[in-house]
Amino acid sequence: MTEQLQPMPEDWQRALAIVAHPDDLEYGAAAAVASWIDGGREVAYVLATRGEAGIATMDPARAARVREREQRASAAVVGVSAVEFLDHPDGVIEYGPALRRDLAAAIRRHRPELVITLNHRDTFGPTAWNTPDHKAVGRAALDAAADAGNRWIFPDLLEEGLQPWEGVRWVAVAASPQATHAVDAGPGMERAVRSLLEHRAYIDALTDTDPETYVRDFLTWATRSAAERFGGRPAVAFELFPR
Ligand SMILES: [Zn+2]
Repeated sequence: MTEQLQPMPEDWQRALAIVAHPDDLEYGAAAAVASWIDGGREVAYVLATRGEAGIATMDPARAARVREREQRASAAVVGVSAVEFLDHPDGVIEYGPALRRDLAAAIRRHRPELVITLNHRDTFGPTAWNTPDHKAVGRAALDAAADAGNRWIFPDLLEEGLQPWEGVRWVAVAASPQATHAVDAGPGMERAVRSLLEHRAYIDALTDTDPETYVRDFLTWATRSAAERFGGRPAVAFELFPR
């Protein structure tokens, strides 16, 4: 029998979600974010890029503006008002100290107990290769959770007044092929649908399917796949790394 997904920890107050692109959180995790905010938690979003290379029919300068607006609107649907962009280059984000430093700085600014990121592994599952940006940002987020607490790594952050933060207790990786934990998707599902629908320019360029049908079908499929290991309840699954 396949191992069951455990409920996500609930004894925390602040989460910081760190992902590469506008829409990364809306392809699943937003349903969990909505229910965390219902429960009185604070959640902020940090995006490494503005997703400027994500729309084939739109030049990057314009796409950056459109996608930033869409990301802020989609965050607002689930109750998130803090949305930051780090302006790494979409499609060619480099994993390394510069990225880790920016993410460690964000963690020190927001002082979360829980860091959320997107799949850092090579694939999303059999035959589904992951993108370089997701891998770079996911790995750097896992690393930065520790970097943020070490005052001797990135000493220039201290000069900027960012004190070490050792309070990250978990990093939870959404869309990992090695999920261990889950959140009931039911309460946040309708907001998750509307949240992903806010990425309208992106979705219109992606598919000829009616946007609401496309979004609902995707989120229903994703949350039902996790349900098989979560007592039959549609769920948002995470691979949890305790620290
Ligand atoms: Zn992405």
